[in-house]
Amino acid sequence: MTKTSSHTPIHVIGGGLAGSEAAWQIAETGIPVILHEMRGVRGTDAHKTDSLAELVCSNSFRSDDATSNAVGVLHAEMRLAGSLIMRSADANQVPAGGALAVDRDGFSAAVTAALESHPLITVTREEVTGLPPEAWDQAIIATGPLTAPSLAAAIQARTGADSLAFFDAIAPIVHTASIDMDICWFQSRYDKVGPGGTGKDYINCPMDEAQYNAFVDALIAGDTTGFKEWEGTPYFDGCLPIEVMAERGRETLRHGPMKPMGLTNAHNPTVKAYAVVQLRQDNALGTLYNMVGFQTKLKYGAQAEIFRLIPGLENAEFARLGGLHRNTYINSPTLLDRSLTLKGRPGLRFAGQITGCEGYVESASIGLLAGRFAAAERLGQTPSLPPETTAFGALLNHITGGHIVSDDEPGKRSFQPMNVNFGLFPPLEPGAVVRPEGLKRFRGKDKAVAKKQATAARALEDCARWLGR
Ligand SMILES: Cc1cc2nc3c(=O)[nH]c(=O)nc-3n(C[C@H](O)[C@H](O)[C@H](O)COP(=O)(O)OP(=O)(O)OC[C@H]3O[C@@H](n4cnc5c(N)ncnc54)[C@H](O)[C@@H]3O)c2cc1C
Repeated sequence: MTKTSSHTPIHVIGGGLAGSEAAWQIAETGIPVILHEMRGVRGTDAHKTDSLAELVCSNSFRSDDATSNAVGVLHAEMRLAGSLIMRSADANQVPAGGALAVDRDGFSAAVTAALESHPLITVTREEVTGLPPEAWDQAIIATGPLTAPSLAAAIQARTGADSLAFFDAIAPIVHTASIDMDICWFQSRYDKVGPGGTGKDYINCPMDEAQYNAFVDALIAGDTTGFKEWEGTPYFDGCLPIEVMAERGRETLRHGPMKPMGLTNAHNPTVKAYAVVQLRQDNALGTLYNMVGFQTKLKYGAQAEIFRLIPGLENAEFARLGGLHRNTYINSPTLLDRSLTLKGRPGLRFAGQITGCEGYVESASIGLLAGRFAAAERLGQTPSLPPETTAFGALLNHITGGHIVSDDEPGKRSFQPMNVNFGLFPPLEPGAVVRPEGLKRFRGKDKAVAKKQATAARALEDCARWLGR
């Protein structure tokens, strides 16, 4: 080993987006890193090369607008924190309007070269087949959505069968502020209060018979994405895509997730809805609601179009659309502490998509945090957590605790992977959004944009302070 440092190395398992960034952050503090990457010895079903930080699909890091887009804010925060992933992306940018897209080969080559030539980083090409040995007192597992089976089995054996998921079955998530409450109303079925509810825990969207039939027709006609050959078809009862339920019979949805029983339309109490779509609170802040039972394989464009047919959701803004795909991830809010350490196993952290974030940038950012936290501990310091008002903090908060456990479905996992979005940020302080001079009416789109801008500005200011910039 190279190593001109008196510190014991930190082990990082997985040289993807998260592991590469984690290794870089650790080495930049003067601590040696051993980065274990299996490609070169064993491939995955999606990666095509042996390069570190390979982009398995799109070449886009999404919006680079740090003034009013949440992922743009995350880009900016990562740049402030000296991110290798962002440096390599910026150096390999290709034209893509407001998005940051990269030459994928140039990008991965830049990350690989930076890591391989760093005097404190050793890259070993090997599969880690079990949990890191205790001798690796500081380690980060960043093996991603396609974690090799033997390590996945070891994680499952340690954390419990329900703690590791192999597929996302994701229902769309809507920004609460975009739901029309002149049409919808709050009510739990049969007004059940439950152990932790109020009797008004769901937002209900009513449909008459004609609206229901048109909706079922649209679902059946909607364009869907197929499963990749290696994914199989992971349908199991209780998790059927909404369009598959619609195909099984016109009445299926009305007797399933869209049943109208036990609900009275607060705006029109004498008329019984023919069917009801329910949305359930998705984050502790109450800024996001998910569409109950609406996991789907419909293409994104079709989803937005079809779900806006639902009364009350005509102008819905989606924090994320639904999906069903292969993804290995742990139940982080239960398993990890705030600094991403596995409870009961000091020094062992998780990072990247396996923690329940989604996307290249989000995965890299959680790698960045895990790397900094591990380095701080190696130096005998307490890891400094980013403020919740930053994109780093909002995402970390979602992963380690911001989700809602559903009381009405005991045993069901409610934690789902998520991209960064403004719904994860704490609300602004009263008076933080000021009406621009000369503007008579200040609501709707203008106000929404101003709120995003104020949230973004607060995030960057707080992030700079956190980093001591
Ligand atoms: C098919 C597919 C398409 C996707 N498309 C997109 C997209 O278009 N845009 C987007 O933003 N996100 C996309 N994602 C999500 C994407 O995977 C993540 O955003 C990102 O790559 C996750 O980063 P990560 O570092 O957590 O995992 P990865 O980047 O997958 O890195 C994990 C690394 O760990 C290695 N590894 C696994 N097991 C072991 C082991 N036991 N020992 C040693 N090494 C191991 C793997 O070889 C890999 O290099 C896609 C995911 C999949 C599966």
